Amino acid sequence: MNQKIRINQKRLQRRLEEMAMFGKTAAGGVSRIALTEEDKLGRETLITWLKEEQCEVHIDAMGNIFGVYPGKNRALAPVLTGSHNDTQPKGGRFDGTLGVIAGVEVISTLRENSIKLERDVILANWTNEEGTRFTPGCTGSGVWSGKLSQEEMYLLKDQEGKTFGEELEKIGFKGSAQYPPLPLHAAFELHVEQGPVLDSSDVTIGIPEGIVSPRWYDVDIYGEANHAGSTPMLCRQDALYAFSKIHQRIRDLAVEAGEVVATVGQITASPNSRNVIASHVHFTIDVRGWDVAKTDNVCAGIEEAIATIASADQCQVEIEHTWREDRADFDQALLKQIEESANQLGLTSMRMYSGASHDMIYINQVARGAMIFVPSVGGKSHTEIEETSYADCGAGADVLLQCIMKSANDL
Ligand SMILES: [Zn+2]
Repeated sequence: MNQKIRINQKRLQRRLEEMAMFGKTAAGGVSRIALTEEDKLGRETLITWLKEEQCEVHIDAMGNIFGVYPGKNRALAPVLTGSHNDTQPKGGRFDGTLGVIAGVEVISTLRENSIKLERDVILANWTNEEGTRFTPGCTGSGVWSGKLSQEEMYLLKDQEGKTFGEELEKIGFKGSAQYPPLPLHAAFELHVEQGPVLDSSDVTIGIPEGIVSPRWYDVDIYGEANHAGSTPMLCRQDALYAFSKIHQRIRDLAVEAGEVVATVGQITASPNSRNVIASHVHFTIDVRGWDVAKTDNVCAGIEEAIATIASADQCQVEIEHTWREDRADFDQALLKQIEESANQLGLTSMRMYSGASHDMIYINQVARGAMIFVPSVGGKSHTEIEETSYADCGAGADVLLQCIMKSANDL
């Protein structure tokens, strides 16, 4: 019987459009940076919707907002869904927000159909997922999961020197609720894919097996500065020349491995003068992959290439391992539930991986977790032209509704 119940796509669209007004940009995107006035207005609107649905609302010390649709047996572990409502500067209307508003839509649908589930259903809006104003991101979910320190996060500063703790207080969202209690029975996050796989495969529902493992490096190459005119080509210790060969090798190693991505995103050369041979290059590498052996191989290859190429050019190197997270494997039973729900709804689906990080990377460490992806038109995200059709938003919300109804009725 429950399989006949559907979310209300028009209401979902209306709420997405209403939320997109807070921080609306001229080019049709959204700048709703964490702990700004726009974020505050978005949060207040979310709370209005939750209260209209007669949800209990809790706000914790990180400003995470939880709306609760009570179950029949409140002693049972709850089912949680949600995402983030903050955006990148000139970001899109769907990244994060879809997962929050779809969760509200699930609750609206349950309530108007008078469906009482065994377990509480909790909608979560996690604070500062994007990490653009206060770095690192996933701050709210990280502290909630016990993986980041609340005291340290309160002290994070933005570029103007304002702290996370002060700004959270200023927008009126420094709460005190210890909520929700662990354990959770299950956690789901609906999100736009932010990549091209679903759109180019013409598939509606993506089922990521998990989130790939990120590994970050900071590398310094030291050569010797000298005159660009009077130093013969074969007598140079040119750090920038060594870098350019290393950069090519990094790309080639990732391409050869397949399913591993490697990016040099930042580079500074010194003294950065047109007629001086570069004595120093600093650069960063971001490597991500699902297959641990392949990713390890690419990393080993990169480290070896840096050492070999630099020494061939008489340069010294220092390699720092800046960050490494293990990949997040989602719960297989929940993945199956998503797959079956998509099938029953007549929606196409495919297994995949998430190359981007999400709040679920932390939540999954303390609960059974899984994500549902819907297509990003042209694979674009973190930009104003980010787009997902409302039909696909609705399809994802329907899959979420089915999964929540099943999970929250598990005994
Ligand atoms: Zn997001």
